[in-house]
Amino acid sequence: PRLANQIAAGEVVERPASVIKELLENSIDAGSSRLDIEADEGGVKLMRVRDNGVGIDKDDLPLALSRHATSKIYELDDLEAVATLGFRGEALASISSVSRLVISSNQTEQPSAGWSARSEGRDMETELMPAPHPRGTTVEVRDLFFNTPARRKFLRTEKTEFGRLEDVVKRLALSHFDVAFSLTHNNRPVHSWRAANTRIEQERRVGQICGSAFMENALYVEVERAGLKLWGWVALPAFSRSQADLQHFYVNGRAIKDKLVTHAVRQAYQDVLFHGRHPAYVLYLELDPATVDVNVHPTKHEVRFRDSRLVHDFLFRTLHHALADVRP
Ligand code: ADP
Ligand code: MG
Repeated sequence: PRLANQIAAGEVVERPASVIKELLENSIDAGSSRLDIEADEGGVKLMRVRDNGVGIDKDDLPLALSRHATSKIYELDDLEAVATLGFRGEALASISSVSRLVISSNQTEQPSAGWSARSEGRDMETELMPAPHPRGTTVEVRDLFFNTPARRKFLRTEKTEFGRLEDVVKRLALSHFDVAFSLTHNNRPVHSWRAANTRIEQERRVGQICGSAFMENALYVEVERAGLKLWGWVALPAFSRSQADLQHFYVNGRAIKDKLVTHAVRQAYQDVLFHGRHPAYVLYLELDPATVDVNVHPTKHEVRFRDSRLVHDFLFRTLHHALADVRP
């Protein structure tokens, strides 16, 4: 049962998008200010993330790829299970076991001081080699699921897989304005976002990601009360959508999908002239981390607020007030 619980709580190496999410989160954790992402064939053939973060010391490179003593991979000893059921806290080791992964890194300013590591075979023996690399880290993942044909069958078309990968990049770009991003698919530049430090620059990035029509109809909101802060952009009720596809909500920088939040926002719209369509928004809620649990389920993006009533009321009132103010 313990193992089953670990699996239930774990992330899943399900598709290129889930790999990219892990790689980008690692790069952001490393303090990077620029992330360059390349993908080929929807990411299945190749995903490469290059960052300018703190890098990894030569001696730590094998550790970054290694399974821990309690590893599920080790316990399960079954690659299909890794690909299907997931992992936790061992993203690189897991991804490496179902792809051809090379990690190159350098902590110094001398490019010649870089090293790269890869793990090979069933024992995942790590091989270290000198490799020139500027300060930072590059992780290259080739041939995802080459050794797990059952999992490979679940992959959709190149276009679908790339679309999901792109969504992951967009979601992270909306919550890390201070990081520059570029995304290339099959050698074609798809996106390039500069670091956005002022509100005007942030609005340009939101417009690039969510569309200029959204930005043109968006209202900027920023309200702080009783330890809760809400800021971001809500589209006027006239710019509603037939699908709930433009709803970005972040709690302390982390993308979430939560019933309470969706409900509060929807209520605010409904009260102000809104007819059964879906509101569009990019909103950031900031609150004391001790009053919210964002790890309820790592893949479902749910949260648990200690005082959910307070949060609901705050969201409802803030948005209702903002929208009612501009009602024609
Ligand atoms: P976790 O992120 O849960 O620690 P991972 O398998 O994702 O596990 O990464 C293993 C370790 O490798 C990280 O803890 C970090 O020390 C190092 N690492 C991975 N990617 C990077 C990166 N881009 N820059 C610096 N260190 C990294
Ligand atoms: Mg990680």
